[in-house]
Amino acid sequence: ISQHNPTLTWTQYTKTLEEQTRKNVDITMKLRHALAADQLTLYYQPQVDLASGRIVSTEALLRWQHPEIGFIPPDQFIPLAEQSQLIGPIGDWVIRQACRDIRRWHDAGIPVTPVSINLSLIQFQLGSVPDTVQKALSDYNIAPEWLTLEITESVFEQHCQALQLDLKALTAMGVRLSLDDFGTGYSSLGHLKDYFFDEIKIDKSFIRQLDDNPYRQAIVKAVIIIAQAIGADVVAEGLESTSQIAIVRQLGCSKGQGYYYSRPVPEPRWRQLLIEQMPLGANHQ
Ligand code: C2E
Ligand code: MG
Ligand code: MG
Ligand code: MG
Repeated sequence: ISQHNPTLTWTQYTKTLEEQTRKNVDITMKLRHALAADQLTLYYQPQVDLASGRIVSTEALLRWQHPEIGFIPPDQFIPLAEQSQLIGPIGDWVIRQACRDIRRWHDAGIPVTPVSINLSLIQFQLGSVPDTVQKALSDYNIAPEWLTLEITESVFEQHCQALQLDLKALTAMGVRLSLDDFGTGYSSLGHLKDYFFDEIKIDKSFIRQLDDNPYRQAIVKAVIIIAQAIGADVVAEGLESTSQIAIVRQLGCSKGQGYYYSRPVPEPRWRQLLIEQMPLGANHQ
């Protein structure tokens, strides 16, 4: 806190802390009802082939619309869902909802692309991730390769016995695994050595300020070379400008997502994008 506001006194600080705690307890209580009250939805953000701007896949991102508070961003409620273990039922809902949506697009004759969803470490600790995935795939009759599971690097910072077994079981099942926010955790290479990932997502913090920064560019280039060496796809996250796109392409990255192409959109809009099959990004040559 002192970092953000150096003039904050101790009394003010503890008061803010108290307020924050009270707010968190309140949000957690509301989150308990969110699922049953139908307040959660999935938004979809396209992942595009950088050469053509064509949509090749999508990331499902959880959204919570509370009737009184309004929109609550995932960065605020996911940590609370993890602390309260509500991430168990919420995470199960995300898995099933993504599969349900894939099935609906298929049935509507829409050309479907693979869907990525995000998983928390706590979901693995609570158990049953492979079972939940298996059941969702079979209930909605979805081929495993339509689903990619994104796991942020930070999951490896805590010991979790279930994780190793579960990731192996999921790979055996045929779903794709993606290492999210690559480069933000420690010992990034260690995780690549111990697990099999089909995809690596370069964190948006690396993409920022790539222009005129040969040092950052060299790091991104190295990540792309490592990914290629282990046969993994690379996705650049947080692409916001044509110059960033030009640079990551030049460094050898062929797939990306970011506001430049599209923000995450509600399902009806996503469905429309799939139907239109138009290349995204205004200045694509
Ligand atoms: P993430 O998985 O790394 O997702 C990418 C985030 O970057 C999303 O934020 C997305 O909206 C944002 N983003 C995409 N393009 C750009 C861009 O060009 N610029 C900038 N500044 N941001 C961009 P969002 O949707 O707020 O989600 C934040 C995080 O919350 C996610 O990061 C993920 O870790 C977590 N999350 C979201 N949905 C779920 C979920 O269903 N389950 C779990 N466990 N975590 C989730
Ligand atoms: Mg992600
Ligand atoms: Mg990410
Ligand atoms: Mg993230």
